[in-house]
Amino acid sequence: MNTHPQTPPPRTLRLAIDTTALAHNWRALDKLSGTARAGAAVKADCYGLGTHNCVPALVEAGARDFFVAHWSEVAPVLDHVAPQQVAVLHGVMTGEEARYAIATGVRPVINSLHQAKVWLDAGGATCNLMVDTGINRLGLAPTELSDPLLARLDVEVLMSHLSSAEEHSAANGHQLAAFRAAQALLPHRETSLANSAGIALGRDYSCDLTRPGLALYGGVPTPDLAGHIRQVAFPQAAIIHVRRLEAGDAVGYNREFTASGPMRVGTVSLGYADGFLRSWGAKGFLRHQGRTLRLLGKVSMDMVVVDLAEAPDLGVGDWLDVPYHLPDAAQHSGLSQYELLTTLGHRFERSVKAHCPSDAANAKA
Ligand SMILES: *Cc1c(COP(=O)(O)O)cnc(C)c1O
Repeated sequence: MNTHPQTPPPRTLRLAIDTTALAHNWRALDKLSGTARAGAAVKADCYGLGTHNCVPALVEAGARDFFVAHWSEVAPVLDHVAPQQVAVLHGVMTGEEARYAIATGVRPVINSLHQAKVWLDAGGATCNLMVDTGINRLGLAPTELSDPLLARLDVEVLMSHLSSAEEHSAANGHQLAAFRAAQALLPHRETSLANSAGIALGRDYSCDLTRPGLALYGGVPTPDLAGHIRQVAFPQAAIIHVRRLEAGDAVGYNREFTASGPMRVGTVSLGYADGFLRSWGAKGFLRHQGRTLRLLGKVSMDMVVVDLAEAPDLGVGDWLDVPYHLPDAAQHSGLSQYELLTTLGHRFERSVKAHCPSDAANAKA
């Protein structure tokens, strides 16, 4: 048996979570929700930032309604909030899931006639109900809404989800109209439609409860939210080796970069296994106190190499900032802001920091 007698040495990857910015973002989105209150999507371990880092700050800011996708995500959230404050978006597909919901007191979001039957057969009480108004993933189809089974449900929040909230698309208006039609058919106590971008569409879309996720964690899905949202996640990676290259020396797999003259380079403990994907590629860079250190060659699983020309003072053990102002990072990497957050790997030491490098320093990228 390995009893881990030794404490592991400090990590070479760290991810600071600015909970002051997180709380600020929730309050800003709550205010933008008008007379509605903002909830919080905390699925996927708070979009990769850590339930235990984020949920307490959201609770303190005033959030009362939390959404996860999977039943496996429920327990960590229940360390911080009461069961009736948690809803599970995937709902109950099996009796086993329904029994878990009843035992924990957490609310499923019922998504189909099958789920409604599973829930009622298990003796489930209050639930939420998702109607599909045009995204065609989960949710009851408009033709199913008059099924007598649904009249037996005790629905707290009637929900739907927008497909194109960040686009100013005509689909938004069509979905809102379809949602209103569903509201007239199904008894419920409250309504909820808008995700982060949906909040920016205006008060009509806010209903009683909004469900921001991305924007809580520093994502800016639409320019309409830009002035309101602060960066929350600040990843850093350490230099683990420094070397000199001569003209003709090549760097990394497939020798994609070749030095044209002598240069000093740093090997950094950051790779695609940490969510720093190859798509950062040739245009990628890391930063140190406003200085840009370009990537050389391909991103490896555990390492990247950067040009230290701009930072001759840096050496082994120094920390570099991964540029994570999300709208800019999405442009540079070709990844979505959602992917940038949720792919950050398990090797980052995640910690709560009340004060992080300012947005401005990161935005200069
Ligand atoms: C993920 C999710 C949200 C949050 O969406 P964001 O775009 O991250 O704000 C809201 N509602 C549902 C149903 C979701 O699946």
